[in-house]
Amino acid sequence: MDYLPIFLDIRGKKVIVDGGITVAARRIERALSAGAIVHHFDPDPGDEVRALLGHENLIHHPRVPVEDDFEGCLVAWGASEEGPRDDLLFAASKKHGALANVADEKDYCDFITPSVVERDPLTIAITTGGAAPVVARILRARVEAMLPAAYGQLAAFLSPYRDRIAAKIKGGTARRRFWENMIEGSIGDAFLAGDRKLAEDLVEQELAGDDARLRQGEVWLVGAGPGDPDLLTFKALRMMQHADVVLYDRLIGDGILDLVRRDAERINVGKQAGNHVLTQEETTALIIKLAKEGKRVLRLKGGDPFIFGRGGEELEDVAAHGIPVVVVPGITAAAGCGSSAGIPLTHRNHAQAVAFVTAHGKDGLLPHDWTRLARHDQTVVVYMGLRFVGEIASTAMAQGVPAEMPIAVVDNGTRTTQRVVVGTLADIGEKTKAAKLKGPALIMIGTVVTLRDTLGVDATAREDTHTMELAARDGL
Ligand code: SAH
Repeated sequence: MDYLPIFLDIRGKKVIVDGGITVAARRIERALSAGAIVHHFDPDPGDEVRALLGHENLIHHPRVPVEDDFEGCLVAWGASEEGPRDDLLFAASKKHGALANVADEKDYCDFITPSVVERDPLTIAITTGGAAPVVARILRARVEAMLPAAYGQLAAFLSPYRDRIAAKIKGGTARRRFWENMIEGSIGDAFLAGDRKLAEDLVEQELAGDDARLRQGEVWLVGAGPGDPDLLTFKALRMMQHADVVLYDRLIGDGILDLVRRDAERINVGKQAGNHVLTQEETTALIIKLAKEGKRVLRLKGGDPFIFGRGGEELEDVAAHGIPVVVVPGITAAAGCGSSAGIPLTHRNHAQAVAFVTAHGKDGLLPHDWTRLARHDQTVVVYMGLRFVGEIASTAMAQGVPAEMPIAVVDNGTRTTQRVVVGTLADIGEKTKAAKLKGPALIMIGTVVTLRDTLGVDATAREDTHTMELAARDGL
């Protein structure tokens, strides 16, 4: 972190805004809304600034500022786009101990003016540390859209209860949980729906209730999708931000782990083929132990937890211990890779059905009947098959599937490192070997693969990125 985020109390303090353009108007508005006494300098301000004149806390000086104007000033904003004025503003600020910020002049900035989302009293400030202000602005728009205006009022409504809650519920974890239940549960719902009276009654009920419930553990089995963090569900994200401990494996990328609540414990139970960090039994035993300690345990799974995710197996044991369980679906790799590689899994002219199969089971390669699976009207998606691509193709051909049947291998689908190898049963083994794919990878068999040429817009973009990465790595 290059900058320290703080929120300044500038009520009644002297602030200077120098300049007459739009940026100056925005700075004046922001400072006035935080209660500052704003001294504005410009001989000929534009319409937006002029529209603000007359505000009781805005003192307009129809001239350029001089050094003495900065005496007693806390914050000075330069928005004149005139070099000599910026020079003076910065020098005078330093002399009088004011914090300076000149628009688009990094050397003349003691602080960053962030993008702000206001839901009074809730205030969110966003910055990229100057690296890419546009990103901050886009993010701000997203946050704006995400936060109902009433969230600020919800914060104000709950604030008087703080002392009573602190007195009743001892222990940071239980208290945090109480607040979360209030905000995300029926109390928040009632308030946001406009029923303040019901919200008040519910808070009283909660405060009168037994807090043992808050100490009970739970297990959340959550699908994290195929890798691109944007493909998480809202529900998955919400649970990631409330869990006490997160168990994840190697399919979960860093971009997704970054979204887990910062102070949640993270445990890698990752399984590399042949190199088990924890066995399935050990993982399940750990989940049960943590839940019995009263923790909210999030088991994060790649893709969808119930599609080749062993989610069912883990849950049976957990449920047998009487621990409450929630399952959240995720985008399975087949759906993610289909979209990102431009291969529709079904298509009226090609495939009326799609089959998800796993290449191997508990005891190695499965003896699939490929003539039944890889039919002319069905797409087959093979999970966990990268190591066996050649073997699967030759078995299928030996069983009678045509050698020219289209087939694709999608490696690291939906991620920035995605690569797609396309061929036929006859040549896919060699092509895949030559490409030295890293996995995880999915095999898609069926004539829908040929549609990729007509649809692969997104996929092309990703491959270009990849080519550039390779070029950079190879020093090209
Ligand atoms: N539950 C997961 C599948 C777990 S099995 C899901 O629903 O997607 C693991 C297999 O999923 C891998 O061997 C690979 O075949 C596939 N897979 C997972 N993520 C993938 C990705 N980003 N790209 C390609 N294949 C992926």
